[in-house]
Amino acid sequence: MAATTKKIQSNLRRIREAIGEACQRSRRDPDRVSIVAVVKSVDVATVKNLIDAGLTELAENRAKRLVERADAIDVYLRRRRTEPPRPIRWHMVGHLQRNKVRQILPVVDVIHSVDSLRLAEEINTRAERLERTTDVFLQVNCTEEPQKSGCAVGAVIHMAELICTLRNLRLVGLMTMGPTSGGAAAAKPAFVRLRELFDEIRSERTGGEHCQHLSMGMSRDYVVAVEEGATILRIGSALFQ
Ligand SMILES: *Cc1c(COP(=O)(O)O)cnc(C)c1O
Repeated sequence: MAATTKKIQSNLRRIREAIGEACQRSRRDPDRVSIVAVVKSVDVATVKNLIDAGLTELAENRAKRLVERADAIDVYLRRRRTEPPRPIRWHMVGHLQRNKVRQILPVVDVIHSVDSLRLAEEINTRAERLERTTDVFLQVNCTEEPQKSGCAVGAVIHMAELICTLRNLRLVGLMTMGPTSGGAAAAKPAFVRLRELFDEIRSERTGGEHCQHLSMGMSRDYVVAVEEGATILRIGSALFQ
């Protein structure tokens, strides 16, 4: 898929309007809702247009692609004269295998898809070697679909506690995906569930001081996600179509 800067800007305006209205309905501050642009379906030229449209939080769902894209954009920005409004930050939003952690860690800023202790430990070990701290979300399988990745709902509190013991990880919140079918209305129970788990973690202070975000909502269901408390929306196709 490809899209011009103009097209992206007009889509972005429409999305921000919808976010604003959802915030009004749920009495939330729109400044507490940010957009991560998922670029898995577009070409590099469109990623550049996205940056021109002012978006600097970019996401991929595959490790190899994330590394390639981050490198290409890095080269592009160094050649270009004008700087983006903020530094570009890369988010990994797809299922992550442990043997890919070493590859992405030097370029990734946030990992949304931590769903097992073994994966968390691998990220921690690699981060320690690079002398850095990596921001992670605990991904939860709120819809309990067997084929879907994510930590089981019943294990979330304990997992959050364990992640917090890893010194080179910073647990910044919880992430979930709506059901694979059924559209926006069908996603609501999953988002409500994630917010309840989030509230529980925060009231018991088991998730640490940085656990402040809910990464939920995609193109088809971001309005519902905002109404249920999302602070980070992972949006792809709605930006480009
Ligand atoms: C692709 C993807 C998105 C964005 O999906 P759109 O429907 O294009 O908005 C969000 N999160 C994850 C994990 C994805 O893989």
